[in-house]
Amino acid sequence: MTTRGFQCAGCGVKGAIWCKSCQNQTVRIGLLCCKRCGYPSERHICKWCCYETPWFDSARSWARYSGELRKALVYLKTQESVDLASALAAHLAEVLLPSWAIDLVVPIPLSATRLRMRGFNQAELLAQAFAQLVQLPIAIKALMRIRDTKFQRTLGRADRKQNVRQAFRADGRSFAGMKILIVDDIFVTGATINSASRAIKKAGGHSVFAITVARSLLNTPA
Ligand SMILES: [Zn+2]
Ligand SMILES: [Zn+2]
Repeated sequence: MTTRGFQCAGCGVKGAIWCKSCQNQTVRIGLLCCKRCGYPSERHICKWCCYETPWFDSARSWARYSGELRKALVYLKTQESVDLASALAAHLAEVLLPSWAIDLVVPIPLSATRLRMRGFNQAELLAQAFAQLVQLPIAIKALMRIRDTKFQRTLGRADRKQNVRQAFRADGRSFAGMKILIVDDIFVTGATINSASRAIKKAGGHSVFAITVARSLLNTPA
């Protein structure tokens, strides 16, 4: 997307909201990853997924959470930019596997309180743009965040898991028998996506997949 007036959310250059140079510099995760959680790994299933099988069937991320992509995602958290969401949604489409045969797209929701404070949900912006791009139906209110969670960044691995446990409620009428795709901006430990997947499966979801724009490699999977 090259349009006059845009400034790159990654590097600040004028001409595009997410420029080609930033896209090219971003480190992709690629195909050599855990088939379950998408963590870069030469093993078919990484050691964390072997240790404890996640609730989601499979998750993939486009690139590493670093450099200009990190800046762009920080920008998307503070600026309600449909244009940036659309540019990044194209990357989500790159990691969507046709074999998942998705029925419904669902963004990771914010709690009602945090949504009021922030004014918008960046995962919802991404999911809307993505669903439109790949022509899939989207459900915004079927998955609810019923409990605010503490800032994950300050917590250790065990605490993160505890923090997001039962943080979601899923509407059975929306999910029963369906193949669901969760959309979020960043996969950190996977605890949030895992907790949401658990809620969807408990609500009768047939299978749950997840895609994120970025994957943090500083944290081991939950
Ligand atoms: Zn740029
Ligand atoms: Zn894994």
